Amino acid sequence: MKRFFPILLMIICLCITSCSNKDHKTTLSFYAMDTFMSIDAYGENSQAAEQAKDRVLELEDRLSVTDKNSEIFAINNGLSVNISPDTLNLICYSLEMSEKTGGALNPTIYPILLEWGFTTGNYRVPDPQRLSELLENVGADKVTVNGGSISLADGVMLDLGAVAKGYASEECAKILRESGVKSALINLGGNIRLVGNRPDGTPWNIGVADPLGEGYVGILSLTDCAAVTSGNYQRYFIENDTVYGHIIDPATGFPVDNDLLSVTVIANDGTLCDALSTALFVMGCEKAEQYWRDNRDFEAVFVTKNNTVYVTSGIYQSFTLDESSGSALKIIE
Ligand code: AMP
Ligand code: MG
Repeated sequence: MKRFFPILLMIICLCITSCSNKDHKTTLSFYAMDTFMSIDAYGENSQAAEQAKDRVLELEDRLSVTDKNSEIFAINNGLSVNISPDTLNLICYSLEMSEKTGGALNPTIYPILLEWGFTTGNYRVPDPQRLSELLENVGADKVTVNGGSISLADGVMLDLGAVAKGYASEECAKILRESGVKSALINLGGNIRLVGNRPDGTPWNIGVADPLGEGYVGILSLTDCAAVTSGNYQRYFIENDTVYGHIIDPATGFPVDNDLLSVTVIANDGTLCDALSTALFVMGCEKAEQYWRDNRDFEAVFVTKNNTVYVTSGIYQSFTLDESSGSALKIIE
């Protein structure tokens, strides 16, 4: 027994360290891309969370539409710039998704957003005539990609605000995974990216916010995927008792006003989730459902103005409605 005692002690110590290492949590909270962000990473490697945060800041420097030193600013203002693979790939991806979503996602919406004051905070309801003039400059076909360079037709400007956070969340997950992190929750202003399960091996519980209240309409039980929500309740201004939200319908130049309050997209790729949550919100419930039926490479939760939460069949089992929200639940098949 004497001989085994040191070995036994070693095994106990190893168990304790491995448990505490697995549960060791590094939390980083910071402000970037115009929103609050946090990274919770479990395990030994606390450096990895710092690296992920640095990557978000690097992407912000490249993709910001307002920062005079960003690549997007240079492209929009005809300045010469070396375009990084990040920026080039994300522009190309947005153009592809714009085509795929019938223009609902539109990376050339920026002149319209400027007119509404959404990027400056200088909010106003524009003159409809002015909006229709500006809409002439909106459309993925007005952007030319030639090898590594981008050229824009006169008056055309890019904004990657609808995809940048999703892309950044995916990059964070990649860095964490490559550093051996098995469990993490990345929250980039509501763009959620999960690595693995919770440290205890159970799925993460992600709330779907109630767009009209404080709480949640329901909880999603998720593992190793992204979940991104879009809605005009997230950023808006009110004038003459009318609410004007930050997601614009490129067909009209006006903030989206359809039967949807929010769209949450769940998939393995955060960039896809971000692109689609914005695009499906623009489409409205019926077209969005049809888009899901035609593609089926994602799942979705639609919160509608008629007090009903619609959930696609692939995620239905993982969604628990909050009964106190007073909403009805329907499945989309
Ligand atoms: P998200 O929060 O991902 O839905 O993205 C909304 C942001 O994307 C807005 O704040 C605008 O910067 C930009 N945006 C607004 N409408 C559109 C649109 N139809 N297509 C692409 N980007 C948009
Ligand atoms: Mg988006």
